[in-house]
Amino acid sequence: MPELPEVETVKRGLNQVTLHQTITGGDVLLDRTIAHPSSMQDFLAGLQGTAIAQWHRRGKYLLAELEKPAARGQNSGDEGVRSRNLEGKEDKEDREEVQNSVRLTHRKPKFGSADSPEAKIQNSPTLQSPIINHPSPPSSPSSPCPSPRSPLTPAYLGVHLRMTGQLLWVTPDTPLPKHTRVRLFFEGDRELRFVDQRTFGQMWWVPPEVTPETIITGLQRLGPEPFSDEFSIAYFTQCLKNRQRPIKNALLDQAIVAGVGNIYADEALFLSGIRPQTLCTRLNRKQIQQLHANIRLVLAASIEAKGTTFSSFRSVDGVNGNYGGIAWVYARDGEPCRTCGMVIERLKLAGRSAHFCPKCQR
Ligand SMILES: [Zn+2]
Repeated sequence: MPELPEVETVKRGLNQVTLHQTITGGDVLLDRTIAHPSSMQDFLAGLQGTAIAQWHRRGKYLLAELEKPAARGQNSGDEGVRSRNLEGKEDKEDREEVQNSVRLTHRKPKFGSADSPEAKIQNSPTLQSPIINHPSPPSSPSSPCPSPRSPLTPAYLGVHLRMTGQLLWVTPDTPLPKHTRVRLFFEGDRELRFVDQRTFGQMWWVPPEVTPETIITGLQRLGPEPFSDEFSIAYFTQCLKNRQRPIKNALLDQAIVAGVGNIYADEALFLSGIRPQTLCTRLNRKQIQQLHANIRLVLAASIEAKGTTFSSFRSVDGVNGNYGGIAWVYARDGEPCRTCGMVIERLKLAGRSAHFCPKCQR
């Protein structure tokens, strides 16, 4: 399952290749991938004619802040050389003719043809600010967003990869993998493809003037980001104080800290010398400090290594990460500890496997 470092890697990859290119249409191949709106037509219509201003990550959620291409000129200062057609799109340079079709469940990959007269669905005339303008949940100043600078809230595309979801940036003629669920076509002969074998992945279109938390309700339950100031030692201590549950379970609790999953919980506990089944209330101040530091350490190391090889995770250009080679305990049960040589053990906690060294972790 992709965890924070993988999702962060995907986010960074998407920010390098997908921004400021108009979405010209799309194709939903599996209806239930779209969590909101309930109509596939509305989902695609909401996205069509917009572009992605910036990708953000909150926990394991990806949030693409959408902009109207027409709004881009307002800040770039060169709107004088642009003209807009009736659809509100730019006619600029040799930008490809924007195609207006909204495809639903047929798989025709070709685009650029004006074959869909129903294609008038546009969410103009709302001009959205291209300024990053995220509504923060009240409990979470660390969410990806600085203070609002405009009364208008942009629309968003939300994505959760869940178990096996992948976002791939390809040309539309790239052979379609069997598990392709959603295709979004961009100007310039590019496509963002959502491939998801297990089909737990989800996408949302969040209309303007609505906070993402309203639509993507899982965002409401997220605790602070691990690298945020809000995730302080004092905060972490408070979360664990007097709690009679295993520390591993607490680390997996997204309401305590967002984005830490099974892999990094096991790794951080190993580096801290703490057994996963240790009750929170038994941890002393020094252990909590070490654990706090090691959570950040393992996440940062994995982000540096562009995600892990533990899952089917791939970055947007289809490349595997390489953190797997340096895992201390995760998925190494039966193998010798890299520090002391003892056999790594595995137990079940909260329905998940926990891996630990019986000698290094007490
Ligand atoms: Zn050991």
